[in-house]
Amino acid sequence: MKLSTGHHHCSHVLLLGLVLVNDVSMGSEATKRDQESYKVQFTQKELKERLTPQEYHVTQEKGTERAFTGKLVDNKKKGTYRCTVCGKELFLSDAKFDSGSGWPSFWETSKDGSVREILDRSHGMTRTEVTCADCGAHLGHVFDDGPRPTGLRYCINSASLKFDPSKGAGEKKKSEL
Ligand SMILES: [Zn+2]
Repeated sequence: MKLSTGHHHCSHVLLLGLVLVNDVSMGSEATKRDQESYKVQFTQKELKERLTPQEYHVTQEKGTERAFTGKLVDNKKKGTYRCTVCGKELFLSDAKFDSGSGWPSFWETSKDGSVREILDRSHGMTRTEVTCADCGAHLGHVFDDGPRPTGLRYCINSASLKFDPSKGAGEKKKSEL
């Protein structure tokens, strides 16, 4: 009798603690991301279930994958690069170039308004952060040392991108030759 009462008491306290921790972390997440200004919203719970731990870290906590480790760094196939969180079309293979940086690099976005650019003063640097315009997922940064014609270099984490070869008409032509 004594044992079972004690156990019950303990688990109740533990449960209360978990709920509190959860509330705190969700609150800080929303503040950090300024999420209300994005039209596509997901709950933290859904994203944790759907994304890999690295995808979650990069897109939701502004993480950066280690250089040359991303799955799309050397991808040269024709197609569309979409937001890994919401599927929005972000970049096209025609604008991808080999920057030597170790991250997928593009000299333009697929359309005006595909991404949002935000001043980022973190880590003692002044950079321009790039997020998905629809859901706010962190993608990477844009620098002004890219190739012509734009002179821009969108330096994007593979973990933020899903490659969609379905629009790759060019690839088919090449293999037919
Ligand atoms: Zn998105």
